[in-house]
Amino acid sequence: QIVLALKGVQRHYEQGEKRLSILSGADFVLHRGEMVALVAPSGAGKSTLLHTAGLLERPDAGEVVLAGRDCGKLNDQERTAVRRNDIGFVYQFHHLLPEFTAVENIAIPQMIKGLSPREATARAEQLLDYMKIGKRGHHRPAELSGGEQQRVAIARAVANAPLVLLADEPTGNLDPVTASYVFDAMEALVRQSGLCALIATHNHELAARMNRRVTLQDGKIVDF
Ligand code: ADP
Ligand code: ADP
Repeated sequence: QIVLALKGVQRHYEQGEKRLSILSGADFVLHRGEMVALVAPSGAGKSTLLHTAGLLERPDAGEVVLAGRDCGKLNDQERTAVRRNDIGFVYQFHHLLPEFTAVENIAIPQMIKGLSPREATARAEQLLDYMKIGKRGHHRPAELSGGEQQRVAIARAVANAPLVLLADEPTGNLDPVTASYVFDAMEALVRQSGLCALIATHNHELAARMNRRVTLQDGKIVDF
């Protein structure tokens, strides 16, 4: 079952007089339950690809299809709604709100989306349990280790049960041992919730543990 499909996606930037082609007819599908590693050197276009797949940027040409829906046909407001409901993002840096606890960081966005405080808090606590940091829920980000902070960011990204998790170097800021534990937790969460994920990483050990590995070659997405 295909959850996300990119069809002939093109993306370029103007740099002065020059036209820099980043994606030139990129095709890709992500199936339900699948974790796919995106491994490519810096500047190859990983962030561009993730932002396009995540409806943060529009492609210059081609289609982004999410759960069978051609997102190119949506207006900006509809794209924002899809992004909020169906897509979870994780970045290299956690971007947690420093003045709120781990539980609050996960629960508050859900309350804004209409969940009651009680439901949102229960959901946040459950996610932290899945990520094996249930006991750390009442600490603020500064009181958590780098690995714990990143787990909270992952829990926040999946709290509203999106269809797809898009992650840009989610363990890029962590030492290899911590990265491996954070990946374990992310994998457990993806498996448990039937999500699928596209994860940009430079960590070949983690890439080897995913279902598939893709890279960017001449603006196209190829398996390797
Ligand atoms: P990666 O995530 O693989 O490092 P990016 O997608 O961030 O790659 O960037 C791909 C290329 O596009 C880089 O050469 C970068 O300098 C260029 N680029 C990215 N964003 C912009 C932009 N807004 N304007 C112009 N060039 C950009
Ligand atoms: P840190 O950044 O402090 O290493 P992690 O997120 O990696 O934080 O660790 C969270 C939990 O993962 C720890 O409390 C522990 O249960 C487990 N863990 C992390 N590293 C190790 C290790 N080297 N050996 C065993 N368990 C570990």
